[in-house]
Amino acid sequence: MKLRISSRLATFAVDKLQILLRMPDALIATTAPASKINLLGMTRAQLESFFTDIGEKKFRAQQVLKWIHHQGVRDFQDMTNLGKTLRDRLSETAEIAPPIIDSQQDSADGTRKWAIKVAGGALVETVLIPEGDRATLCVSSQVGCSLDCKFCSTGKQGFQRDLTAAEIIGQVWLAIDSYDGWQSGKGRVVTNVVMMGMGEPLLNFDNVVSSMELMCDDLAYGLSKRKVTLSTSGVVPALDQLADFSDVSLAISLHAPNDAIRDQIIPINKRYPIANLLSSARAYIDAQMDKKRVVTIEYTLLAGVNDQVEHAQELAQLLDGFPCKINLIPFNDFPQSGFKRPSGNAVSRFWKVLMEAGFIVTVRTTRGDDIDAACGQLVGEVNDRTKRAARYRAQYEEMDTIEG
Ligand code: SAH
Ligand code: SF4
Repeated sequence: MKLRISSRLATFAVDKLQILLRMPDALIATTAPASKINLLGMTRAQLESFFTDIGEKKFRAQQVLKWIHHQGVRDFQDMTNLGKTLRDRLSETAEIAPPIIDSQQDSADGTRKWAIKVAGGALVETVLIPEGDRATLCVSSQVGCSLDCKFCSTGKQGFQRDLTAAEIIGQVWLAIDSYDGWQSGKGRVVTNVVMMGMGEPLLNFDNVVSSMELMCDDLAYGLSKRKVTLSTSGVVPALDQLADFSDVSLAISLHAPNDAIRDQIIPINKRYPIANLLSSARAYIDAQMDKKRVVTIEYTLLAGVNDQVEHAQELAQLLDGFPCKINLIPFNDFPQSGFKRPSGNAVSRFWKVLMEAGFIVTVRTTRGDDIDAACGQLVGEVNDRTKRAARYRAQYEEMDTIEG
């Protein structure tokens, strides 16, 4: 039996979808009932169809895209290169509706974190981490997550719903708007995006792909594909399709050198084991025009679970010849996590084995900073106590460094 889970993806065999079927909502991009059509999440092609469907010329899409994503304009009446009749018509039937900022926190080190209220009232987190002339935005793709990785507090929340494309790209829009960065001339507010917030991006395929398309479209945010990164814990059938729709950078949440360990901490591994995941990731990279691209292997170090020298040796063997760089992340603890962060010595030992084996390895000790301390309070029921902002920082500063 076959089931179509998205308009973009090919059909998957149902038996491969049990993990999705546990959460039927994962199959549906939920949108709030709205009388007006929200143009914020529409790609160039979608907006072109929207305009041709209402009897307008295609190039209107280009004009409107620039107003929304270059100028931050939400009121159609301010779109001065559209005729009055069209402006009125759009005002009546359409809207540009970003999600709402519920609260914002600024760290002394410049990190800004928002709790964002999406339709239905759920909260998700978005974090901007400025670093020199770069600023990386960590974007959420779902409310909660169905994959239940054992060391992840988002996983412990369970899955509520997918974010719409407007809610995903809306996080970029809001970040820029929050700095009044539309035409500031002060440099770009967001230079890099990582799909590493709440949720598993490949389980919200269409909306994530559309949003990443806008991130990279010159008429929208114009980011290079190297500066937009999708991170996945291994939804292999969706990863197998990704190259047909996107060419962004890829990060794999590996976190284990063998299936026995990965099965215990990342349940989806039982369905799509490491060998399948790595070969799918390799195929994705091989499909890219730029032959120098590599996969980022994320490896969260959990004391006594995956942080021993023999694990590092096994990882080195596993990744021998695989086009990657490795990012080691000491576990960020949260209450009742059941895991511990390894000692600094254990992290160094692990790092050294991989370095000596010839890998590019980055490691960053998480900095607990002022806003992380209040992380759980910021998002209320989301209550992510994993110091997510610090985690993002640890991961992405390093990724940027090696990506140059
Ligand atoms: N769902 C995607 C992206 C979001 S999670 C994924 O799993 O890849 C972003 C990264 O943070 C992943 O590598 C995830 O494994 C890691 N992570 C989750 N909880 C963590 C924790 N408590 N400490 C350190 N890293 C964690
Ligand atoms: Fe979901 Fe990623 Fe957390 Fe796993 S690590 S539960 S895939 S958000």
